[in-house]
Amino acid sequence: MKSFLKLATISLLTSQCFGNAAVKNNAKNTGTLATVYTECKKPGQFVLTFDDGPNAGTTERALNVLKKNGIIGTFFVNSANYVDLVNSVEARNIVKRAYEEGHDIGSHTYQHKDLFLAMEEGSLEINVDKNNEVISSIIGRTPVFFRPPLGNGGFTKEYCTAMNIPYDMRTEQVRQYLGERGMKVIMWNADTQDWNNKGNVQNSINELAKSLNAIGKSPQNSSFITLIHDVHDYSVDVILQQVIDYVKQNGYQIVSLAECIGEAPYLDGYNPNQSTANQSTNTGATTGTMPTVNSNINTEPGMNMNVGNTNTATSTLNSNSSLGKPIDLESASIKNFINSIFTVIFLALLNTLLY
Ligand SMILES: [Zn+2]
Repeated sequence: MKSFLKLATISLLTSQCFGNAAVKNNAKNTGTLATVYTECKKPGQFVLTFDDGPNAGTTERALNVLKKNGIIGTFFVNSANYVDLVNSVEARNIVKRAYEEGHDIGSHTYQHKDLFLAMEEGSLEINVDKNNEVISSIIGRTPVFFRPPLGNGGFTKEYCTAMNIPYDMRTEQVRQYLGERGMKVIMWNADTQDWNNKGNVQNSINELAKSLNAIGKSPQNSSFITLIHDVHDYSVDVILQQVIDYVKQNGYQIVSLAECIGEAPYLDGYNPNQSTANQSTNTGATTGTMPTVNSNINTEPGMNMNVGNTNTATSTLNSNSSLGKPIDLESASIKNFINSIFTVIFLALLNTLLY
């Protein structure tokens, strides 16, 4: 009997070791999910982000407005959208200028590609890694901030639950891919809908007001990340300045995204708006906190067709989603780990009693 129990104990202990290995592996995988940000860490802050550029003329004029107002923005760039960022010297110089003027440069994919589609067609590498390489070839640094086209990959389980909309499990695959590269997903919680309000700036202000003037919101308790497109004349010539004025009138301080979320914009930890003494080294992998859920994320518009090899993606939020109850991977891993420890202690005690 004793030898049977001895054998059973050894066998259970051995399988528990394999179990632990599996748990460790799980923890490693889930630990690299890219953090999703929709707001700043401190109330009273407001961030301007620009999508879809660069574009000859309009992006430079957006930079002029920012310079005039002493504001640092974030430019989420594509390699092949309005201009050819690989081959056009003019286009590359626009990104270089934005970077040299202290703005954060982030990625918006190579082809302005919905990442769910990118996964289907196997173009994640081009759209994430290749775009990072192009950016790095211009500014010498690899971006951390990532804005997913159409938002797909950034609509978290918490957000979907709060909004009572279906959650798409592919979001975790996207976050995993970005997280393994040390990237952060930057969503938004206030929209200007500038692409949809060409010629009517008041509509953009009203759109913004839906978030800033929502019941209970104030600079004492809220912060915002908004988006605008630096590729449209009306957006950079009219809407941008009025947005800046409106935000300031409402008592918010316009800060850089890096300051808002407390993260360095580049993989090497370099932050252009911090003194050199304070530069930190980013370790790459992300294990950050889950985002706060905000109720005002809208899908963003499509993209330009000027540059070849771009897609005509018009998919809306969670199209083709594989619905079902998502598994809470983080808590599942912790529970497994605790169970494992208790089982090992129990078996060790049993072992001591037997011999
Ligand atoms: Zn876009």
